[in-house]
Amino acid sequence: SALKKICLIGSGNWGSAIAKIVGHNVTKFDYFDKTVKMYVYEEIVDGRKLTEIINTDHENVKYLPGHKLPETIVAVPDALETAKDADVIIFVVPHQFVERTCAPLKDKIKPSAIGLSLIKGFGEKAGGGLVLISDLISETLGIKVSALMGANLAHEVADEKFCETTIGTEDEESGKILKDLLDTPNFRVTIVRDRYTVEVCGALKNIVGCAAGFSDGLKLGDNSKAAVIRLGLKEMIRFVKTFYGDNFELSTFFESCGVADLITTCYGGRNRKISEAFVTSGKTIEELEKELLNGQRLQGPQTAYEVLNLLEAKNVTDRFPLFYAVAMICKGIIPPSSLIEYLRKEPSD
Ligand code: NAD
Ligand code: 13P
Repeated sequence: SALKKICLIGSGNWGSAIAKIVGHNVTKFDYFDKTVKMYVYEEIVDGRKLTEIINTDHENVKYLPGHKLPETIVAVPDALETAKDADVIIFVVPHQFVERTCAPLKDKIKPSAIGLSLIKGFGEKAGGGLVLISDLISETLGIKVSALMGANLAHEVADEKFCETTIGTEDEESGKILKDLLDTPNFRVTIVRDRYTVEVCGALKNIVGCAAGFSDGLKLGDNSKAAVIRLGLKEMIRFVKTFYGDNFELSTFFESCGVADLITTCYGGRNRKISEAFVTSGKTIEELEKELLNGQRLQGPQTAYEVLNLLEAKNVTDRFPLFYAVAMICKGIIPPSSLIEYLRKEPSD
């Protein structure tokens, strides 16, 4: 049968790091096509198109400088052109751009294609409520979509330092192909069936990362930050129980997508860093994102707003004091120093 064509929709910091792995792994298995198209949101960098820079110099100089991409990776400035003949589509744009990026693919890709979302965040339903990004893509495009989440700071993955990651998928066949595509000695893939929990963990840990950054900015010390992480983990578990029912595995929280991603985000993530600067500089989150991230995008504050809308609509804000406080602090409604007051409000169950 024909070789499987792989493509990437997205080429930011994480998209480029994952391109290094996928671009290499396609050469290890006979059944993969050796060209991997990567959708690049076109921009001009130092007078040249970013796609042209990637295709001639094999480096994403803006979002992952200092790392060569494999020559199997071909940058394409059009999402449909990238995905139209692909058998495996890996989605890795910041969550705020997922709907507009996927819209042109509707009814134009292979119905047999499988998807994988690396996107941490939620979509919002038109009538209120949250939707998992993998479900949003699946519903828009009519394909099966799995999720990959883990303790995976992109620059460390690009440096080929050891880490683990979790793929959540109900589909065994997808799991096998995706593991071939992504697993390496330094990027250890574990597969679980509990896709909902995997993905909810990936989205919510960014909110906790903001709280950790506020804690650092307030110089509250390591014990307080440990409390933030513990209370954050409990709210993540409570969130899954509240909104997804009892049909989940507690063990998923102990995979890389759970506790490990929470820890790395609270120590080394962008959400932590910007939230710390928010406290020490007095500037807004938007100003700091522009000033400090060179085009990279935060997921935590927007996820906190999305979650706040849901908690308010369901009248359960008091069950999630940490998530609530992060949203209110990011919006500038309460000062960062009130974080402590909310850390004291742990619900009894
Ligand atoms: P990023 O933060 O580097 O974001 C920049 C990307 O967004 C660039 O590719 C840019 O071209 C693109 N972009 C800007 N405007 C756009 C538009 N209007 N439409 C489409 N694209 C646009 O992105 P990233 O780090 O690759 O993050 C993508 C997802 O991966 C996020 O959900 C993030 O949480 C997740 N993730 C990131 C890391 C990490 O360490 N960076 C690790 C694991 C998961
Ligand atoms: P930040 O977006 O906070 O940098 O977190 C990256 C991440 O998801 C690590 O797994």
